[in-house]
Amino acid sequence: MINPQEIKNLVAKARLSRERAFVLRSNHPIGAAVLTRSNNIFDGCNIESIIMGLGSCAEQNAINHAIIHGEHEFKALLTIDETKTYPCGVCLQYLYQFFQIDEQDIEIIAADLSGAYEVASLTSLLPHAYKTRQHLDRLRSFRHSF
Ligand SMILES: [Zn+2]
Repeated sequence: MINPQEIKNLVAKARLSRERAFVLRSNHPIGAAVLTRSNNIFDGCNIESIIMGLGSCAEQNAINHAIIHGEHEFKALLTIDETKTYPCGVCLQYLYQFFQIDEQDIEIIAADLSGAYEVASLTSLLPHAYKTRQHLDRLRSFRHSF
């Protein structure tokens, strides 16, 4: 279970990242941060494109930031917005493949700019996620032991 200090650390990282959001279309910045099972934090912001459909969510960018650094097992993902906002379905599904590595649920935290937050779990937010069976062995080959 994630503790309040870990949430504060995630909020701080996600808030900074939100300030760097590249939101030329929506003008709606979102910040995100993931806490890995090795207790590292990686942040992300939403990045939009002048070409429709080429942008990416803050959550996906935070996850990819962790992957780039060799981390793919997650304890928590936090988003920060003006109001508490949970990740979109695409991001939840994207995160779900990493959940399938070790089947340990991932906490999803929706924080607002005041630092207030709500906590849910990945499996509660996406109870009917697409689950791979075909690639499960390959996915689990990425497993670390913490
Ligand atoms: Zn998303």
